[in-house]
Amino acid sequence: MQLLYSSLKLHEIYHLKNLLETEGIRCQIRNELLSRLAGEIPFTECAPQLWLLDERDLERARAIVMDFGCGAVTSPAWRCPNCREPLEGQFSACWHCGAARRDD
Ligand SMILES: [Zn+2]
Repeated sequence: MQLLYSSLKLHEIYHLKNLLETEGIRCQIRNELLSRLAGEIPFTECAPQLWLLDERDLERARAIVMDFGCGAVTSPAWRCPNCREPLEGQFSACWHCGAARRDD
């Protein structure tokens, strides 16, 4: 098992899983239920994760993640809509209050 991707945006995880399975890459979602507790426990510990069942698929899978364009590297810094905390682009939720990022 190999961790491929982690995000609080569950729809991203589902979408990626679909893309991977279309390519014949088997994967599994973890922490799907835990994510509903976001805000009550640190989000870094409860973000949904996408795991590859076969590590040999890693290179192909990473290419798909890059194509999907949800890589943390490309995200701009943002400010929490709830508590105004400035945040790095790789976070999909506020570390301070747990509010989810808004892309508008
Ligand atoms: Zn906040």
